[in-house]
Amino acid sequence: MTEANKKLTQLKELGEFGLIDRLTKDIKIKHASTVKGVGDDAAVLDYTDKELVVTTDLLVEGIHFDLTYTPLKHLGYKAVVVNLSDVYAMNAIPKQITVSIALSGKFSLEAVELLYSGIHKACEHYQVDLIGGDTTSSVTGLAISITAIGEVEKGQAVYRNGANPGDLICVSGDLGSAYAGLQILNREKAVYQVNPNSQPDMSAYDYVLERQLKPEARKDIVEALKKAAIKPTSMIDVSDGLSSEILHICKQSNCGAKIMDADLPIDAQTMHVAEELNMDASLLALSGGEDYELLFTINPDDLTKINLVEGVQVIGEIVPADQEVRLYGKSGGSTAITAQGWNAYS
Ligand code: ADP
Ligand code: MG
Repeated sequence: MTEANKKLTQLKELGEFGLIDRLTKDIKIKHASTVKGVGDDAAVLDYTDKELVVTTDLLVEGIHFDLTYTPLKHLGYKAVVVNLSDVYAMNAIPKQITVSIALSGKFSLEAVELLYSGIHKACEHYQVDLIGGDTTSSVTGLAISITAIGEVEKGQAVYRNGANPGDLICVSGDLGSAYAGLQILNREKAVYQVNPNSQPDMSAYDYVLERQLKPEARKDIVEALKKAAIKPTSMIDVSDGLSSEILHICKQSNCGAKIMDADLPIDAQTMHVAEELNMDASLLALSGGEDYELLFTINPDDLTKINLVEGVQVIGEIVPADQEVRLYGKSGGSTAITAQGWNAYS
């Protein structure tokens, strides 16, 4: 019998404890701060002398992901990454996660193991311990909730509320590519629904698809900033889109912002997709979301230091609150940034 037509294992054959055992049996604890992982009523952690950060996300099938084009392994990886990104955005290092899943009858053991292969892969890549979770059934579909725990030296956490007028606004990587990837996936799904025999050639979209399906959290940027002796004055990760995130920083820091359209980092493939879909590339960068880049502000005295950090772009400046949050175009006109996107320059 070939691999492909082997009978799939029903979850009810294993039971809840059998399933948990299968999913967690190969875990090897990486950190001294994990005193007890999976296997008791609760995990035990030891964080003497450090501050702890804790964050949770809940992903629901049909709302946050679509299994028609999301491989389960990628979903597991991404579910971990989106949480770790929140930990890094606090200037902290993630050390442990818990994973809770609700599964409907359509999932086999093999399917759940695929999901967990992505989860374990992310745990290896980012060096975090999987220390527990919960497993239950659902009426329809899959829900997955991950909690991440990280550590930061006392006083070194970076919040959304620390930006000051004159600070430089920086962003890592490029923006809009994950959303561009999602648009391509949705387009191909629609084509497939009309013609299931279609074999789309996706090679021209490899970068944007990877950004959508297998995003990474910017551990490297947090490490590079530390190495460069830069402590951002404020920081947030770009999950909902640049517009929405800069508004969070400005609201909490009670300030405005001047963002330069010409300085937004946009990948060539994102530009290409924007053109194909007849969308404005800057709008993709501002409103796209799911980039999991870091948006942060620094003291202007750190400009020479930040110029030496690879993969970071200065995109504007924090201004007093009365100047609003505005996007400045190449010709000098400006427009107010709203969470939904933006209107033409005035
Ligand atoms: P309890 O009855 O106390 O909730 P469970 O039987 O649900 O305990 O869980 C047993 C152990 O397995 C616990 O350590 C729990 O954290 C862990 N666990 C349960 N579900 C998962 C999961 N989906 N992934 C990882 N660990 C899990
Ligand atoms: Mg339980």
